[in-house]
This record gives sequence, structure tokens and C-alpha cells, in this order.
Amino acid sequence: MLEIKNLHVYYGGIHALHGISLRVPDGKIVTLLGANGAGKSSTLRTIAGLVKANEGSITFDGQNLLGLKSFEVLRRGIALVPEGRRVFVNLTVRENLILGAYTRNDKTEIRRSTEEIFAVFPRLEERINQPAGTLSGGEQQMLALGRALMSQPKLLMIDEPSLGLAPVLSQGVLKKLKEINQNKGQTILLIEQNARAAMSIADYAYILETGKIVLEGEAEVLSKDDQVRKSYLGVH
Ligand code: ATP
Repeated sequence: MLEIKNLHVYYGGIHALHGISLRVPDGKIVTLLGANGAGKSSTLRTIAGLVKANEGSITFDGQNLLGLKSFEVLRRGIALVPEGRRVFVNLTVRENLILGAYTRNDKTEIRRSTEEIFAVFPRLEERINQPAGTLSGGEQQMLALGRALMSQPKLLMIDEPSLGLAPVLSQGVLKKLKEINQNKGQTILLIEQNARAAMSIADYAYILETGKIVLEGEAEVLSKDDQVRKSYLGVH
């Protein structure tokens, strides 16, 4: 389980996170919701070791993560799919996936993981030898997810997987995430601009406003709350 307590992050004089506390239990999908600038990406980037925390604690399975470099966080079993996909456009689908396994050594096991990813994302197998830059936006998002899964993370963190995708494609990506969670018990921490879609696959949700958690609860309960529906889910 990932556990964050009283996390504060500053960018120079900007106080971006004001004492965030949250938990991601094993096997669950947890979503972080909130307007632009609320601090969602900063939270994921701090967990991933890309941003330094000024105060608070982050532990994973009881072990401290604060102060670790990003590759050390990955070795502990936490992978981040950053916003904007960032696949290697000149490398093929296969090469992108193999790069995701750089923390692993066993070639047979790596091949087996590739097969598993193709079972979830058959489109990637069809495009296996194509440069990633020739894939559509939705396919690149699937490749970015596949690459992160190649490290066999205990916790998969995803920043806005449906950004820039047509609604039908973003639904497709979220459905895949739910499938990976249900079939493999994959633990997921998800930031998603489409709050309603995120709530529909999540077990638990946290709502951030200007660097603070203002509301949290079981996704099923929150998504039925009138105030939440009006303020965050765009339902009137
Ligand atoms: P978005 O959906 O727009 O990415 P977010 O909820 O992920 O929003 P963050 O990107 O975490 O929000 O930003 C939180 C606050 O920190 C914002 O006020 C933002 O302007 C500021 N911020 C983020 N990154 C930096 C940085 N590298 N330098 C200075 N300020 C930053």
C-alpha cells in the first residue's frame, strides 16, 4: 500500500501541495480529481521522485520513498505514465515495450510480459514493427501504458490518459485499465480529466482544490452525492 501523510511541495515561492494525505491500497483503483492547477500532477511526480517534497512522508509497503531518485522508485515497483504519453517516436512498438523492461533481466519472462500486453492491447501486436510515431493518439497511449506495465509495477500511476483523445477512445483506455485491475489485481492511481469516467472505474476518489484534499470517499458513494455531481461531475 502507498501511504502519503501531510505532503507539502513548493516550487520556489509557490506552495503547490498543502499537506496532502492519501492512501492507495493494494488491488484498488484510486483516482485524484480536481481542476487544472489543483496539484494532481505534482502529487504523482513527487511520489515518482521527480519533484522534491518539503515536508511530510511517502511510504510504500511501509518503506520510505522520500528522497529516492526516480529510477529507485521504479525499482521499488512504482511506474508513472506521464501526461502527454511520451513514447519514443522513432523506435518501434516492440522496442518501446522492451525499454520498459530495463529493470528486468530474464529474457523469457520479458517475452511473456510482451505476450500478456498484446493480449490486452491486440492493436499493439498488429503494429509491432511500426515506429511509435506512426500510431494514432489512442494507440500511443496504449503503448505508453504497455511500456509502464513491462516493468511489472506493483503500483501503476497514470496522468490523464485520455488527454487529447476522442471520447470513445478515452472510454476504451479506461476500460482497459479496469480490465487490467480486475484480471491481474493491478493497483492503479489515476488522474483523469473526465471525472465521471474516472469515478465509474475507480474504487475510491480524492478531490483536490488548490493543493488540498477537500473531499474523499468511495467512488460509488461520491458519484451519487448531489453536491459532487453538480460541482465536479458536470451533472445538473
Ligand atoms: P493540470 O491538470 O493543469 O496538470 P494539476 O492539478 O496536475 O493541473 P499541477 O500541475 O500539480 O496541477 O500544479 C499545481 C500548482 O503548481 C499549479 O499552481 C502550477 O502552476 C504549479 N506548478 C506545477 N509545476 C510547476 C513548476 N515546475 N514550477 C512552478 N510551478 C509549478
